[in-house]
Amino acid sequence: MENETVSKNFIENIIDKDLEEGVYDTVHTRFPPEPNGYLHIGHAKSILLNYGLAQKYKGKFNLRFDDTNPTKEKSEFVESIKADVKWLGADWEDRLFFASDYFDQMYEAAVKLIKKGKAFVCDLTADQIREYRGTLTEPGKESPYRNRTVEENLQLFEEMREGKYGDGEKVLRAKIDMASPNMNMRDPVIYRVARMTHHNTGDKWCIYPMYDFAHPIEDAIEGVTHSICTLEFEDHRPLYDWVVKELEYPHPPKQIEFAKLYLTNVVTGKRYIKKLVEDGIVDGWDDPRLVSIAALRRRGFTPESIRKFVELCGVSKANSSVDYAMLEYCIREDLKLKRPRMMAILDPIKLVIDNYPEGQVEYLEAPNNMENEELGTRKIPFSGELYIERDDFMAEPPKKYKRLYIGNEVRLMNAYFVTCTGYEADDDGTIRVVHCTYDPETKGGNAPDGRKVKGTIHWVEASNAGKVEVRLYENIVDEEKGVYNKEDGSLNVNPNSLTVTSAYVEPELLKAKGYDSYQFVRNGFFCADIHDSREGAPVFNRIVSLKSSFKLPKA
Ligand code: ATP
Ligand code: MG
Repeated sequence: MENETVSKNFIENIIDKDLEEGVYDTVHTRFPPEPNGYLHIGHAKSILLNYGLAQKYKGKFNLRFDDTNPTKEKSEFVESIKADVKWLGADWEDRLFFASDYFDQMYEAAVKLIKKGKAFVCDLTADQIREYRGTLTEPGKESPYRNRTVEENLQLFEEMREGKYGDGEKVLRAKIDMASPNMNMRDPVIYRVARMTHHNTGDKWCIYPMYDFAHPIEDAIEGVTHSICTLEFEDHRPLYDWVVKELEYPHPPKQIEFAKLYLTNVVTGKRYIKKLVEDGIVDGWDDPRLVSIAALRRRGFTPESIRKFVELCGVSKANSSVDYAMLEYCIREDLKLKRPRMMAILDPIKLVIDNYPEGQVEYLEAPNNMENEELGTRKIPFSGELYIERDDFMAEPPKKYKRLYIGNEVRLMNAYFVTCTGYEADDDGTIRVVHCTYDPETKGGNAPDGRKVKGTIHWVEASNAGKVEVRLYENIVDEEKGVYNKEDGSLNVNPNSLTVTSAYVEPELLKAKGYDSYQFVRNGFFCADIHDSREGAPVFNRIVSLKSSFKLPKA
């Protein structure tokens, strides 16, 4: 592949060293989403990174739903996440897991800590626990319940499970160090009472483990070697290590952090996307203006383009933000040679060829993609009445203008040379019809006498043209104002993020089915909408225009 980087990323260096030193003899990774929303482009990075490492080292990759928190999780999201991971090409084979399946083991793990004198039941309220925790500059205070006996702790914890206590009345805490400079190590809560119905375990439990306790156990149970997460968990690593050490797992997993992927001026946070959906600003989690995986798929992005994008982003320890233009670059590069180039007119005016035989329609052969012969050819109708783009004619052209103006000859793509002879306009100057004559000798787009034209324009034959709905997009947020409103933190929504218009297209395009994508000559790449396209009446979403300001950074 072009631009392939030979240098390894820092995670690969860690893995190489682990394998060399015999810390592990295999590589086992996982992607652990919380089923509380749709996956987005940032998650794609994590999925492809974890899956890619498993592939590269001939190891294993798990998809594990981190569903230990019963408040926000929904089964609906489980299905969408599975579909998205699969679509991206990450194959978990038969290794699909749910953290909630380990609740028994987690309970046993907590009992083990109690027996070792490493955990205690605490009666302080949440506020008191916070108060006792101290600050970054001051050590915390030990809980008065910290020195309960093992027997008492075992009994109280059992009673917590049996439902003797109300929510928040008692918690189980790890007994570590209230003076630790790392706040996460100051006797963190590892189990809480919460009377909530869980989507998987129903009402079996009224106590639930906290993330920092549950996650390392999940990894250890599954035999994960390298537990890759994002930077915000860096300060939690000592606790992760503490949990796997105290629970005496024979092959403790190792946590490695990398920087989250951020896109400049793009909304990724679940909270904001939810608000856009609820306020009806977008038409759902897969609205093509969003960057959820489902939205990107609907917009017409391919798994290949997203893999390429993630590869270009690299893996790093430093937070940074990537320009959306790079994502656009990747989809253009991916579709450029793969998809047919068709003609569609977004802002039409009529072109009448006055010397073309009245009423005649002929069929011309056109390559589907002049840069890729493998895509074959198609027949397109041609007659004396065509649609062309409004901006391909000018009554008073500036000097460098190469397209149609009175007296100028241009090429109609895949067809003939035509010379502009006149036009008809409304009283307000709006052009309605452009007139021209054609040279029958130039069929196919070349003159036998070798004369050249400077401009080539695209067109659609009028009597056979299909009229379809087309949607053009801009960023959902107003880039000038910035993503978030400085006063109240709300989103600065761009009122022009969606333009619905219509286009005349060549008949072949009427066959498009949801997810089929094409290049529309000069107008960009378009994809048939999966929800709104009907048989014979596709609706096209613009994936990306053809113009780019993005330059691939030199390796
Ligand atoms: P968000 O709040 O944006 O939905 P999250 O971290 O709460 O993200 P999880 O379901 O907990 O979502 O994340 C699953 C995995 O994806 C975690 O390992 C997390 O670190 C990773 N991840 C989440 N966001 C990003 C991102 N922007 N870039 C890379 N990895 C990410
Ligand atoms: Mg989360």
